Amino acid sequence: MISVRNAVYKYNRDTEDEVIALRGVSFDIAEGEFVALVGANGSGKSTLAKLLNALYIPDEGNVFVDGTDTASARGEDVVNIRRTVGVVFQNPDNQMVASVIEDDVAFGPENLGIPSAECRERVDWALECVGMYAHRKGTPFRLSGGQKQRIAIAGVLAMKPRVMVLDESTAMLDPRGKKEVMDVVERIRRDEGMTVVMITHFPGEAARADRVIALSGGKVATDAPAREALSDVEALRSIGLEAPLPTRIAYELGRKGVCLPGGIITPEGLAEALCAIK
Ligand code: ADP
Ligand code: MG
Repeated sequence: MISVRNAVYKYNRDTEDEVIALRGVSFDIAEGEFVALVGANGSGKSTLAKLLNALYIPDEGNVFVDGTDTASARGEDVVNIRRTVGVVFQNPDNQMVASVIEDDVAFGPENLGIPSAECRERVDWALECVGMYAHRKGTPFRLSGGQKQRIAIAGVLAMKPRVMVLDESTAMLDPRGKKEVMDVVERIRRDEGMTVVMITHFPGEAARADRVIALSGGKVATDAPAREALSDVEALRSIGLEAPLPTRIAYELGRKGVCLPGGIITPEGLAEALCAIK
């Protein structure tokens, strides 16, 4: 579905202020995968998100979306890439464009040239998906952070992308808002078979993914199944990330002589391991 090959991306290229945000990144994502993209601040996650839907083109290397090289895409191909990969960007306030919620959600599909009757259906469906249908006639500006984020997700969903990229979509939310968003993502993924790339710096959220790609300084530091990637406390620490809390508890217990099996990344996993102690 997505193939990134030695992608390099520079801001302010060839000037004094040049910043190399990505330094040769490679990975593939298959259809239906749920990937968590993690990394400390400034590691290149948001830049990568923009490469995935051809908002940015790599300075070196390539990004292929369903076989199309974003660098050579023109006109119709770019529209197809944007249809295939929907990105929910970091700040939902910057993404609100209309004063009525349903119009806001309709903006994306309308821009893709979807006929208006189908647009209507998609908007209703997307609002149902995120549990905001009852609010459709209201204004987005008075909503809570979690609700705004769900509207932003609905706006991308209404474009029916095959791949959904969520850039720190839960970062500004309280625990309840975080759970709302994560539950919506998991449900859509299950019901629609969508490929999901979730950018997060909450290791506990990454634990819900099948696979974790960790960036550090614009490079891939780890690309492994979630259990493996998230249970290595020291490797994560070395790239400025914390392991999930249950993993850290198991790690600290281990240092105090309570030996638990490896690969604990969820509260349930930790509880099971503790109960199994004789
Ligand atoms: P992350 O999302 O992981 O925090 P970013 O992709 O936003 O990382 O940033 C990667 C690097 O690129 C950082 O060093 C950041 O300061 C730099 N950067 C990001 N956006 C810009 C920009 N518009 N102009 C110049 N440098 C930028
Ligand atoms: Mg970012």
